[in-house]
Amino acid sequence: MKQNLLEFDAAGLTAWFAGMGEKPFRAKQVLRWLHQFGEDDFERMTDVAKSLRTRLAEHAEVRLPQVMLDSAAADGTRKWLLDVGNGNAVECVFIPEENRGTLCISTQAGCALDCAFCSTGKQGFNRNLTTGEIIGQLWWAKKALGDFRAHGSSDTNRRIAGTDFSGDRIISNVVLMGMGEPLANLDNVVTALHLMLDDNAYGLSRRRVTVSTSGILPAMDRLRDECPVALAVSLHAPNDALRDRLVPINRKYPLAELMAACRRYLEKSPRDFITFEYVMLDGVNDSEEHARELIRLVRDVPCKLNLIPFNPFPASGFKRSPAQRVRRFAEILMQAHIITTTRKTRGEDIDAACGQLAGQVRDRTQRREKRITTIAEAAP
Ligand code: SAH
Ligand code: SF4
Repeated sequence: MKQNLLEFDAAGLTAWFAGMGEKPFRAKQVLRWLHQFGEDDFERMTDVAKSLRTRLAEHAEVRLPQVMLDSAAADGTRKWLLDVGNGNAVECVFIPEENRGTLCISTQAGCALDCAFCSTGKQGFNRNLTTGEIIGQLWWAKKALGDFRAHGSSDTNRRIAGTDFSGDRIISNVVLMGMGEPLANLDNVVTALHLMLDDNAYGLSRRRVTVSTSGILPAMDRLRDECPVALAVSLHAPNDALRDRLVPINRKYPLAELMAACRRYLEKSPRDFITFEYVMLDGVNDSEEHARELIRLVRDVPCKLNLIPFNPFPASGFKRSPAQRVRRFAEILMQAHIITTTRKTRGEDIDAACGQLAGQVRDRTQRREKRITTIAEAAP
């Protein structure tokens, strides 16, 4: 089987080239062709020696997940459905805003953590995406949006060292908030993060790459040590009893430990706050008392709160909190000097909003069937 070069970060590609007796600068050249110019054909890598191009064609390939569907929403949001083989497909979403463009990418086909309100979780888990499949989403989105640099063009995208300048990129931010739990696939995610941050690849600033996690604690510490980027933590409840129900991983890593891990993360984080995500579920976690409990919980963690209106999907069993209640919740937090934003729902008409990414997953756990049976049994 040929080696897929998209599986490597700079260190990996250099090592693989060394195994072929090739110099590090060759690896760097190829890395730039792949990830800076978006070139997937060795023959068109014109400044790479002809003999090396021939060897690469023999032993290596650039294997990208195939795009099955490309949809555009009325508000400019784009969604791609990517085939990752064996009947599995994952989604990635581009959200244009006035001063930035954010790409939301997936890290697993399905998710094993089964949060009560999440459509990805309801599909069960199939497998981890490889580094090539994770970075392949960014590659495709850049291709589709015309965001790769032309070879030989001046580097207007280059980040000024030590700043947060994003140049004239269309995709200025990446969030790992699509399907799956990034920290349950840490090795592949870290390699993909290296590529996102590498100036010879995508060259994004650490502050503009965000990993979102439901709180797998040992992996949070590893991310902090191996590749600290901005961190979002999916909280969704202010106490263990409720969080146990909504985010089952809480039974293993309860809130007090999660808060301590957040503080440890901040020691090395490129941002001086954690973003807490809190999906607003009507009558479940959205009362004034919940807001006050939340203030007490996050008291010792520098943070911002991001309230997410629940995005419904068939048979979820939850309803979105009324706008008035979300406003009141935000008001209470802000009175306690916690910076609070309410996420605008984008791309709803193409099912591209948070938590609606379903893709297509063959569920080895059979959870979906079990669920459908349960629903059928419960039906009158
Ligand atoms: N597994 C990671 C990242 C993917 S989920 C995590 O849980 O953080 C990304 C975000 O979408 C999480 O905050 C998640 O709780 C939220 N989410 C899931 N289902 C949702 C829904 N139906 N409506 C709104 N947000 C949802
Ligand atoms: Fe998995 Fe995140 Fe969905 Fe929970 S919210 S099931 S961790 S993808």
